[in-house]
Amino acid sequence: MKNKYALIGDKLGHSYSPIIHNMIFEKFQIDGEYSLLEVRCNNLAEVVKKLREEELSGINITIPYKTNILEYLDEISEEAKEIGAVNTVIYRDGKLIGHNTDYYGFKMIISKLKLEVKNKKNFICGAGGSARAVIKCLEDLGGENYLVTRDVEKAKINFKDFKGLNIISYKERESISEKNLIVNCTPCGMYPNIECSILDVEEKKEYRAGIDLIYNPQKTRFLDGFKVGENGLLMLVGQAIKAEEIWQDREISVDDTQEIYEKIKELMYI
Ligand code: NAP
Repeated sequence: MKNKYALIGDKLGHSYSPIIHNMIFEKFQIDGEYSLLEVRCNNLAEVVKKLREEELSGINITIPYKTNILEYLDEISEEAKEIGAVNTVIYRDGKLIGHNTDYYGFKMIISKLKLEVKNKKNFICGAGGSARAVIKCLEDLGGENYLVTRDVEKAKINFKDFKGLNIISYKERESISEKNLIVNCTPCGMYPNIECSILDVEEKKEYRAGIDLIYNPQKTRFLDGFKVGENGLLMLVGQAIKAEEIWQDREISVDDTQEIYEKIKELMYI
């Protein structure tokens, strides 16, 4: 019988995760099957039971359960602990272990662009869930990081665990010099609201590079005009690859990751 994996969330209508994971299974001849499992909050315990009874071999978790899952886990990886959210769970040696693979997905974009972020001023816009993984990654890479938000006071409370993080308004950001990277961690510009952008065209010249976590459309208004830029598709594929590495206990090479990414890109944008 195939090993079963699933994405757990509240509303999963248009998720690309089954396509990515089932492509990985096919490529590496893994006897697995990945599906979507819409779950109401009070049913999360049932999913956990399925993992402990090995009915499910691993799960990914998305909005709104990335923090709700924490109370059910026996161990949490170092990066997930600091981010405060888990998106991948495995049951191994009698323990439920949680990881955050969004962190690794974002890191793959930094590697692909060969971006220098150490001791450079990096701006993360939007104080929501995805920003936490991005900030942790840029922190680990030694960046001087600025969280840009519409509500500084609220963000100071929600991000108090990130000790070296500067929290500023969009207005305050304007007066800072030597800007390096800017990351869009807001839903602004996502289909169908494609006209929306948190950045004016003129402002883009001030940054060395821009990354948008959004991958639909392929080129958002935010990305238009950066010499060095990337959308969020590699992060999406990268987090799935890292989850498979954890579940299958194997390494997936950069070349194989690139091949899977290119295939998904073709499926999505052509
Ligand atoms: P979220 O928690 O719903 O929102 C992020 C933050 O964006 C909010 O907390 C808010 O922060 C800001 N924001 C919301 N609406 C805004 C607006 N109209 N104008 C300016 N700022 C606004 O979302 P998330 O889960 O962090 O995800 C953010 C985006 O990243 C989504 O589009 C999501 O699809 C994408 N994403 C992609 C990947 C990937 O693998 N590529 C992974 C995760 C998320 P402030 O109020 O502090 O300004």
